[in-house]
Amino acid sequence: MKKHNFSAGPSILPEFTIKKTAEAVLDFAGTGLSVMEVSHRDKEFMAVMAQANALVKELLEVPSGYEVLFLGGGASMQFCMVPYNFLNKKAAYLNTGTWASKALKEAKFFGEVVEVASSKDENFCYIPKNYEIPSDADYFHITTNNTIFGTEIRTDLDVNVPLIADMSSDIFSRPVDVSKYALIYGGAQKNLAPAGVAFVIVKEDALGKVDRPIPTMLNYRTHMENESMFNTPPVLPIFSALQTLIWLKEQGGVKEMEKRNIRKADILYSEIERNKLFKTTVKNVEDRSLMNICFVMNEEYKELENEFKNFAIANGMVGIKGHRSVGGFRASTYNALPEESVKALVAAMQEFERKY
Ligand SMILES: *Cc1c(COP(=O)(O)O)cnc(C)c1O
Repeated sequence: MKKHNFSAGPSILPEFTIKKTAEAVLDFAGTGLSVMEVSHRDKEFMAVMAQANALVKELLEVPSGYEVLFLGGGASMQFCMVPYNFLNKKAAYLNTGTWASKALKEAKFFGEVVEVASSKDENFCYIPKNYEIPSDADYFHITTNNTIFGTEIRTDLDVNVPLIADMSSDIFSRPVDVSKYALIYGGAQKNLAPAGVAFVIVKEDALGKVDRPIPTMLNYRTHMENESMFNTPPVLPIFSALQTLIWLKEQGGVKEMEKRNIRKADILYSEIERNKLFKTTVKNVEDRSLMNICFVMNEEYKELENEFKNFAIANGMVGIKGHRSVGGFRASTYNALPEESVKALVAAMQEFERKY
């Protein structure tokens, strides 16, 4: 049976990426060697790095004055690198979920942190609006897509201080006005590549404003000056990331992805609303994530939760169990997930409804 992979991360990747990576594991660029056993400084791999870099810039229309980096340590390392490099006295954070809270916690090691707003009071089921950002904050940090709670900020905010965003789980899902950000980062394993690499898009002249010395490996400048080759980069995930970027371009880029993602999300949210067994956990329509669609059983059907989970698994669905902090279900509908998989889930929900 065909598997429909709704996993939140690591998650589905384009078949193109998986095939090309499998081929390169056996024979990389005609070298007769595996991509896992060549030097990262060989010209073949240098070309991979350069092309991945150029494609990120092309797909997101990154303006000049920005650098693209591929670093180890995942998004969680960025929770520490961001304040290390940007927080001189005070930073502002919007607390919209587990990952945002973790980012905020790390920043506290470096200075004063103002939580401008939080949706914790309602288990992060909405995106706070109408908050004030202190004008003397060194930067304002947001998590554009809250992978666990299924909320998303889908517009590029206009703010009065440098804007920094964790886009781990919605990068390349829509066009982004990069010029509005001082830095964008994320782990690759949601929408880009296998785990092991983080991407960073950093505005060069936003750096250099902190007084503290920064250890070499944690300094963005080190990686900018060495084109992400200061130390051995995660070669295989970067190779895979390049394949996904090539695929994205062939599919029509981020505008086309946004169109498909809106369509997929519409299909699933409409069914959740129509189906008497289910309801969404995100109250405002405009806050609903296009990437991670969270839903639970309606009160009167709560006891059917496990049965539906097993029914879905028996119908080929993978990874739809909700995160323990929300419960219920979460269908992650990343770029690589075909509409066909969403329709298969909807069909399973309808069939299950007919039984009750
Ligand atoms: C998964 C995730 C992270 C953590 O990424 P790691 O690469 O595992 O450190 C951070 N932020 C968001 C929004 C995520 O979805």
